[in-house]
Amino acid sequence: NGFVALGLAPELVAAVADLGFEQPTSVQEKVIPLAMTSSDEGNARFIDLLVSSQTGSGKTAAFLLPVLHTLLAQEAEAAAALKAEADRLAAEAIARGEAPPKKAKRKDPTSNRNFKAATPGALILCPTRELAQQVAHDAIDLVKHCRGLRVASVVGGMPYQLQIAKLQNANLVVATPGRLLDLQRSMQIKLDQVRFLVVDEADRMLDLGFADDLAEVNQLTIERKQTMMFSATFAPRIQQLATRVMRQPQKIQI
Ligand code: AMP
Repeated sequence: NGFVALGLAPELVAAVADLGFEQPTSVQEKVIPLAMTSSDEGNARFIDLLVSSQTGSGKTAAFLLPVLHTLLAQEAEAAAALKAEADRLAAEAIARGEAPPKKAKRKDPTSNRNFKAATPGALILCPTRELAQQVAHDAIDLVKHCRGLRVASVVGGMPYQLQIAKLQNANLVVATPGRLLDLQRSMQIKLDQVRFLVVDEADRMLDLGFADDLAEVNQLTIERKQTMMFSATFAPRIQQLATRVMRQPQKIQI
């Protein structure tokens, strides 16, 4: 399978194989390795990308796969750190002649008790509800072998309570800008853990008047994050938007 050579986690290679993808498309071949490259090794900041590509080129997997790959690695690191801490506490308790502490129970995400705002690590912004649902659907296909990674979508016109319940433990959120900012303002979601931001179909985002919403979302996420912007063209207005939300992006023309 041609995806192995791109350096993706085995869980993701298995998922693309299940989908019947044998070889990466041109945009996938160019974007995936670059998106997983740090700009400055010590600080592990990934480079920003501005990509021109059409629908049908395989662009969705081109941004989802590297984001999921890095989320997976970070999730595994966090789980290992938690386990090491639990083991340390248990060993200390045993050394004091006490019973080791019980494991904390997982919270029920649909319960209103213990409510806390969702804090996704990755955010994909789409101009329309239909596109967001398609991208979320593709993401769900790609995480099927990834333990601990959860995907949720946030789009207008869907029942609020249902979306909020699903959001609680999501690592990756696919959203339209309007509904996302609604949920942010009502404190159902916090964006200060977002380390990956993808803007899909940036030209349609501008057509639909989302430029200011995009800039606002960008402000709410952490500064040291990776931003990838996909657009059909590199028209001047796209370049202008890119300078508003990205730092020295590398351009990839397909
Ligand atoms: P997109 O451009 O992301 O809308 O993708 C267009 C279609 O191509 C979708 O139906 C994908 O499932 C499919 N696709 C994406 N990548 C590949 C691949 N490497 N091989 C075969 N089909 C693919």
